[in-house]
Amino acid sequence: MSSQVGPAVTSSLNPGACPLCGSVMAGRTNKSTGERFLGCSRYPQCKGTRPLP
Ligand SMILES: [Zn+2]
Repeated sequence: MSSQVGPAVTSSLNPGACPLCGSVMAGRTNKSTGERFLGCSRYPQCKGTRPLP
């Protein structure tokens, strides 16, 4: 009963959040390479991206 996750661990608890602005990220596909990745829903205002796990 002592293995609770602290509130400071947000990056792993919310892997779908933009690393730049914290907004929700959406699955996108690179038109050039065809690779799939997560892009910020605020693009092009925010250009935060994350690789898919
Ligand atoms: Zn963002």
